[in-house]
Amino acid sequence: MEMANCVYDNNNDLLQSTFFQVERAATRMGLDPGLLKVLKEPKRILTVSVPLRKDDGSLDVYQGFRVQHNLARGPAKGGIRFHQDVTLEEVIALAALMTWKCAVVDIPYGGAKGGIICNPKELSTGELERLTRRYVTEISIIIGPEKDIPAPDVNTNPQVMAWIMDTFSMQHGYSIPAVVTGKPLEIGGSQGRNEATGRGCVYTIEEAASGCGLNLAEATAAVQGFGNVGAVAAACLNDLGCRVVAVSDSKGGVYCEGGLDIAEVREYKERTGSVVGYPDATPITQQELLALDCDILVPAALENQITEANAADIRAKIVAEAANGPTTARADDILQQRGIMVIPDILANAGGVVVSYFEWVQGMQHFFWSKDEVNRQLRRRIVSSFREVWEIAQRERVSMRTAAYMIALERVKKATLLRGLFP
Ligand code: GLU
Repeated sequence: MEMANCVYDNNNDLLQSTFFQVERAATRMGLDPGLLKVLKEPKRILTVSVPLRKDDGSLDVYQGFRVQHNLARGPAKGGIRFHQDVTLEEVIALAALMTWKCAVVDIPYGGAKGGIICNPKELSTGELERLTRRYVTEISIIIGPEKDIPAPDVNTNPQVMAWIMDTFSMQHGYSIPAVVTGKPLEIGGSQGRNEATGRGCVYTIEEAASGCGLNLAEATAAVQGFGNVGAVAAACLNDLGCRVVAVSDSKGGVYCEGGLDIAEVREYKERTGSVVGYPDATPITQQELLALDCDILVPAALENQITEANAADIRAKIVAEAANGPTTARADDILQQRGIMVIPDILANAGGVVVSYFEWVQGMQHFFWSKDEVNRQLRRRIVSSFREVWEIAQRERVSMRTAAYMIALERVKKATLLRGLFP
């Protein structure tokens, strides 16, 4: 790529795919090349080292990041990921995806992301708490309710958000709940936030299904990833009468032709730590799951799952990207050529950040909504965004992904031009 003296490595798959999608939409829109450069680049990159005293008394140090990609439309917003494979480039790409996601659903935020390179499964609860608190202290110079608002992502949850809220509040001497979203209800969280990403994804699937004449009550689905997003999406699909024939997590997958009882699988995973070994089902690999003959495929795990190597094997009619960046740019073209409808991540998984926005607004107003109200507003926002994207895709004869990027780029472009270049 054209950036020569760059602090990050341009050869990252997720980053390249994200840049590629932005460039493709920009070309289609005839966007000024200079402006495109501005809109692609991350605004601010913070790398921190996070020392941790382990339970056995030894001292270790972890690498952490917080990247703010774009702030033209409002404060930065995006989750924090704890994973052994986190890289700066991944965090930059995920921050950029947040910019486009917030713009496509028209909420007043820019994009950010954070991460720590660590395997949280190898840390005790005490170690995790100390790691979180020190990381938050290190990034506290750039976060805040009006500056940058973290949230949950892979391997972080409401408890971690509570530690973030407490650490930031302690440093300022009073409670500042609006510094983070995805908090527990007891300290200013929102009803429905936990389920929001999975729920929002299923709202997009309902729209897509009605658009292509698929009756969900007779449909089959496979869900890759059985965490906060995948398990909820699977349960919501189940509630609509859809047969969820396979699910998986990082340890493996299970398949049942007649459909899995998702409530039971969730209970089994809570008890054993994985879906693997769930009775009355056959083991299945991640690759087999992705290639299943079903109507709907929901990748709800990590990025780069559908690649050039397996895109030709996908047999689903609809792919709903509950994860961030599950399809590489090359694989995306293959799916498109094969007539598979892909609901792009920046739309399909936007439900989480939409309810984060509701949480932030409720917190600022000290006025909290019922779960029904949250879900109603979520559905309204997701359905109207889906229809806008669908309409542009039809009108411009582009994929839903390119249409979503065109809408998002247009919004960020307008904000940038209205604000003007400083100085
Ligand atoms: N981590 C989630 C995402 O990728 C949610 C971010 C948020 O709520 O700010 O969209």
